Amino acid sequence: MKTQIKQHFASCLCQSVQLSFAEPVNWIAHCHCTMCQKANGAAFVTWLGINKEKFEITKGKSYLSWYQSSADASRAHCKNCGTPMLFTSSRWKDEVHVSRALVDTTLSHPVDCHAFYDTHVNWSTTDPDLPKRGGQSGTEPLNE
Ligand SMILES: [Zn+2]
Ligand SMILES: [Zn+2]
Repeated sequence: MKTQIKQHFASCLCQSVQLSFAEPVNWIAHCHCTMCQKANGAAFVTWLGINKEKFEITKGKSYLSWYQSSADASRAHCKNCGTPMLFTSSRWKDEVHVSRALVDTTLSHPVDCHAFYDTHVNWSTTDPDLPKRGGQSGTEPLNE
Protein backbone atom coordinates (compact mmCIF):
# COMPACT_ATOMS: atom_id res chain seq x y z
CA MET A 1 0.00 0.00 0.00
CA LYS A 2 1.30 3.42 -0.95
CA THR A 3 1.66 5.90 1.85
CA GLN A 4 0.03 9.19 1.03
CA ILE A 5 1.98 12.09 2.51
CA LYS A 6 -0.26 15.05 2.98
CA GLN A 7 1.13 18.41 1.90
CA HIS A 8 -0.06 21.58 3.61
CA PHE A 9 0.02 25.21 2.57
CA ALA A 10 0.15 28.38 4.63
CA SER A 11 0.26 32.07 3.75
CA CYS A 12 0.27 35.57 5.22
CA LEU A 13 -2.61 38.03 5.01
CA CYS A 14 -1.44 39.60 1.74
CA GLN A 15 -0.38 36.26 0.20
CA SER A 16 3.12 37.58 -0.60
CA VAL A 17 4.67 34.81 1.51
CA GLN A 18 3.58 31.25 0.88
CA LEU A 19 4.78 28.20 2.78
CA SER A 20 4.45 24.50 2.33
CA PHE A 21 5.11 21.60 4.68
CA ALA A 22 4.47 17.87 4.78
CA GLU A 23 2.95 15.82 7.58
CA PRO A 24 3.61 14.67 10.18
CA VAL A 25 3.27 17.75 12.33
CA ASN A 26 5.33 17.13 15.48
CA TRP A 27 3.04 19.01 17.85
CA ILE A 28 0.65 21.96 18.10
CA ALA A 29 0.61 24.16 21.21
CA HIS A 30 -0.92 27.38 22.43
CA CYS A 31 2.12 29.43 23.52
CA HIS A 32 1.47 31.87 26.36
CA CYS A 33 5.02 33.27 26.66
CA THR A 34 5.25 37.03 27.03
CA MET A 35 7.28 37.42 23.84
CA CYS A 36 4.62 35.69 21.73
CA GLN A 37 2.01 37.92 23.34
CA LYS A 38 3.93 41.07 22.35
CA ALA A 39 5.08 39.90 18.92
CA ASN A 40 1.57 38.96 17.91
CA GLY A 41 -0.47 41.49 19.89
CA ALA A 42 -2.48 38.56 21.21
CA ALA A 43 -3.27 36.63 24.39
CA PHE A 44 -1.36 33.61 23.05
CA VAL A 45 -0.15 32.17 19.76
CA THR A 46 -0.84 28.69 18.46
CA TRP A 47 2.32 27.22 16.93
CA LEU A 48 2.91 23.98 15.10
CA GLY A 49 6.30 22.28 15.04
CA ILE A 50 7.56 20.83 11.78
CA ASN A 51 10.91 19.29 10.87
CA LYS A 52 12.99 21.72 8.79
CA GLU A 53 13.47 19.24 5.95
CA LYS A 54 9.70 18.97 5.53
CA PHE A 55 9.27 22.73 5.34
CA GLU A 56 9.69 25.09 2.39
CA ILE A 57 9.12 28.77 1.65
CA THR A 58 7.52 28.44 -1.79
CA LYS A 59 6.95 32.14 -2.50
CA GLY A 60 8.07 35.54 -1.23
CA LYS A 61 11.16 34.65 0.79
CA SER A 62 12.37 38.24 0.30
CA TYR A 63 9.19 39.50 1.99
CA LEU A 64 10.12 37.75 5.23
CA SER A 65 11.76 40.01 7.78
CA TRP A 66 13.61 38.22 10.59
CA TYR A 67 13.89 39.71 14.07
CA GLN A 68 16.15 38.17 16.70
CA SER A 69 13.77 38.22 19.67
CA SER A 70 16.18 36.59 22.15
CA ALA A 71 19.75 35.25 22.22
CA ASP A 72 18.70 31.90 20.75
CA ALA A 73 15.52 32.69 18.84
CA SER A 74 14.26 34.58 15.79
CA ARG A 75 10.82 35.45 14.49
CA ALA A 76 9.78 36.26 10.94
CA HIS A 77 6.91 38.40 9.72
CA CYS A 78 5.77 39.53 6.30
CA LYS A 79 7.24 42.97 5.51
CA ASN A 80 4.24 43.87 3.38
CA CYS A 81 1.28 43.03 5.61
CA GLY A 82 2.94 42.49 9.01
CA THR A 83 1.63 38.98 9.63
CA PRO A 84 3.78 37.14 12.23
CA MET A 85 4.63 33.81 10.61
CA LEU A 86 7.65 31.81 11.79
CA PHE A 87 9.77 31.10 14.84
CA THR A 88 13.13 29.36 14.98
CA SER A 89 15.40 28.67 17.94
CA SER A 90 18.56 26.75 18.70
CA ARG A 91 16.48 25.11 21.45
CA TRP A 92 14.53 23.34 18.70
CA LYS A 93 17.25 23.34 16.05
CA ASP A 94 15.70 20.68 13.81
CA GLU A 95 12.31 22.39 13.75
CA VAL A 96 10.65 25.46 12.38
CA HIS A 97 7.52 26.71 14.13
CA VAL A 98 4.70 27.99 11.93
CA SER A 99 1.73 29.99 13.18
CA ARG A 100 -1.18 27.54 13.10
CA ALA A 101 -3.67 30.18 12.02
CA LEU A 102 -1.87 30.69 8.70
CA VAL A 103 -2.49 27.14 7.45
CA ASP A 104 -4.88 27.16 4.48
CA THR A 105 -5.29 23.39 4.18
CA THR A 106 -7.21 21.07 6.48
CA LEU A 107 -4.94 19.95 9.28
CA SER A 108 -6.31 17.15 11.42
CA HIS A 109 -3.62 17.27 14.14
CA PRO A 110 -5.27 18.64 17.31
CA VAL A 111 -3.79 21.18 19.71
CA ASP A 112 -1.72 19.12 22.15
CA CYS A 113 -1.20 21.45 25.09
CA HIS A 114 -0.67 24.91 26.52
CA ALA A 115 3.01 25.99 26.76
CA PHE A 116 4.53 28.69 28.98
CA TYR A 117 1.22 28.70 30.83
CA ASP A 118 2.87 30.36 33.85
CA THR A 119 2.55 33.67 32.02
CA HIS A 120 -0.93 33.28 30.53
CA VAL A 121 -3.14 36.36 30.65
CA ASN A 122 -6.22 36.32 32.88
CA TRP A 123 -8.51 37.96 30.34
CA SER A 124 -8.74 35.18 27.78
CA THR A 125 -9.55 31.49 27.99
CA THR A 126 -9.44 28.65 25.50
CA ASP A 127 -9.31 24.85 25.61
CA PRO A 128 -9.45 24.67 29.42
CA ASP A 129 -9.13 20.88 29.46
CA LEU A 130 -5.81 20.65 27.57
CA PRO A 131 -2.65 19.79 29.55
CA LYS A 132 -0.93 22.90 30.88
CA ARG A 133 2.86 23.20 30.74
CA GLY A 134 5.27 25.84 31.95
CA GLY A 135 8.34 26.26 34.14
CA GLN A 136 11.76 27.22 32.86
CA SER A 137 11.46 25.37 29.55
CA GLY A 138 7.81 26.26 29.11
CA THR A 139 7.03 22.60 28.51
CA GLU A 140 7.24 21.06 31.99
CA PRO A 141 3.93 19.68 33.27
CA LEU A 142 2.13 22.11 35.58
CA ASN A 143 -0.09 20.99 38.42
CA GLU A 144 -3.24 22.97 38.74
ZN1 LIG B 1 2.01 39.46 3.70
ZN1 LIG C 1 5.90 31.84 22.86
